[in-house]
Amino acid sequence: MAASGENRTLIASLIRDVPDFPKPGIVFKDITPLLGSPAGYAAAIAELAADAPDGVDYVVGMEARGFVFAGPVALALGAGFVPVRKPGKLPGAVLTQTYALEYGEETLAIHADAIPTGARVLIVDDVLATGGTITATVDLVRRLGAQVVGVAVLLELGFLGGRDLLASHGLTDPRAVLSL
Ligand code: AMP
Repeated sequence: MAASGENRTLIASLIRDVPDFPKPGIVFKDITPLLGSPAGYAAAIAELAADAPDGVDYVVGMEARGFVFAGPVALALGAGFVPVRKPGKLPGAVLTQTYALEYGEETLAIHADAIPTGARVLIVDDVLATGGTITATVDLVRRLGAQVVGVAVLLELGFLGGRDLLASHGLTDPRAVLSL
C-alpha cells in the first residue's frame, strides 16, 4: 500500500527546505515543523509503520533524527527499540562500523548484546540520501546475527542513489513515505 495521499500531502507540507545547510550546495530537509505538528508527526509514524513486514522483533534507529521516528514506530509495532549511536555514547560492549562520507568517514556503534541471533529487524530513519548510514547499520545488525527484514524512511532523495547502495547489500525494497 502506498502512503495515503492525505497523509503524504500533510507530511510534505511540514518538511522545510533549508538551502546551503550545513554547507553550500546542500538543501537540508528540516523535519522540525513536522515534529511540532501532532497531526503531522502522527501521520509520519502511521505511514512508517504501515506495511511493515510481519513479526518485527526490533526497530533500529540511528542517532539522532532516526530516534525520533524509530522509537514511536517500535511502539506502534509492539517491537523493541534499539539505538545505533556515534562512538563513545553507549556504555556497554559495542560493535562499530566505519563507512565513507563524501568527505571523510563516520563510525556507528551498537551494543553487542542489543539484539539476539535470528531476530527480525526493521531499520527506520528520517532521510535516505547516499545510503551510507543505513548500509552501515545493516552491517551492524547482521554482524549480531540478526536479520534485516525491512527498511523504512520518511524521505528518499532518489538522485543520490541510496536505493542502489541498499540493493548492493541485498535490500531491494526500502519503503519511502515520500520520494524526491
Ligand atoms: P546518507 O548516509 O547519505 O544516506 O545520509 C543519511 C543521513 O544523513 C540521514 O540520517 C539524514 O538524517 C541525513 N541527511 C542526509 N542528507 C540530508 C538532507 N539533505 N537533509 C536532511 N538530512 C539529511
